[in-house]
Amino acid sequence: MNADILTNISVIKDRITGACMANYRDPGEVKLLLATKTVPAARINIALQAGHTLIAENKVQELKEKYAALKAVPHTNHFIGHLQTNKIKDLIKCEVSCLQSLDRLELAEKLHQRLLSENKTMDVLIQVNTSGEESKFGAQPELVFELVTRVSKLKTLKIKGLMTIGLFSAETEKIRPCFRLLKNIQQQIMDLNLPGVTMQELSMGMSGDLEIAVAEGATIVRVGTAVFGQRVYPDSYYWNEGDTLGK
Ligand SMILES: *Cc1c(COP(=O)(O)O)cnc(C)c1O
Repeated sequence: MNADILTNISVIKDRITGACMANYRDPGEVKLLLATKTVPAARINIALQAGHTLIAENKVQELKEKYAALKAVPHTNHFIGHLQTNKIKDLIKCEVSCLQSLDRLELAEKLHQRLLSENKTMDVLIQVNTSGEESKFGAQPELVFELVTRVSKLKTLKIKGLMTIGLFSAETEKIRPCFRLLKNIQQQIMDLNLPGVTMQELSMGMSGDLEIAVAEGATIVRVGTAVFGQRVYPDSYYWNEGDTLGK
C-alpha cells in the first residue's frame, strides 16, 4: 500500500537515528538511499514527492523504463548493480550521478572514454567484495588499492568512497567483519593521499543490517525491502552474472 511507504521510511529514519545515537554519530552523516529494483515508478514517486530523493537501480533496463515517469520530481540517481560495458551510454543518458558498483578497470576505462566524449564527469564508488563469496561482484580487497590508483588517473571519474554488499546472512553479527573490512580499506586508501580521490562515502548496510553498518561507519545505507515490501525476485537475480532468472 502506498501510504505505507512513507510510514516505512520514517521507521527506517528512526532506526538510522537510533544507530547513530548508540554510536555517538551525527544522524546527518548518514544518507538513506532507496533501492528501487522491481518497484513501479508510481510507488517510487510517493517517496520522491515526500522529499526522499536519493534512489538507485540495479539494472539498466529498469532504469530506462522508469526514467521518464520519474523525471517530474528532481532526484539523485545512483546505480548499484553489475554494469556491463555496453550499457554505459544508457547510464549517462539516464543521468546517473554516481556509479556505486565500479569493480574493474575495463569498466572504468570505457566509462571514462564515453564521459570524455560527452564532456561529462561521474562520481564513483569502488565496490569491494568483502564476503569472499564468489557469487558477489566487487573487487577483491587485495586488488582495490591498484584499482583505485589506476582509476584516480581517469579524470572524468571522481572517486568518492567504497561500497559493499557484505555477507548475505540472517546472522547479522557475521556481517560485521565485512563492514569493518570496508572501513579498514577506506582508511588505508586515505593514507595513500591519491590526488583527486576523496574517500568520505561508505555505502553499506541494507534493510536487515543497517544498524551494524552505521555502527561500523556507513555514510549511505541502501534500503529496499523495508520501505517497499518484499520483492518477487530473489536477490541472486540481481547479484549474480547473467540477466535471466534461475541462473
Ligand atoms: C536490493 C539491494 C539493496 C537493498 O536490499 P534490501 O534488503 O531490500 O533492503 C541494497 N544494495 C544492493 C546492491 C541491492 O541490490
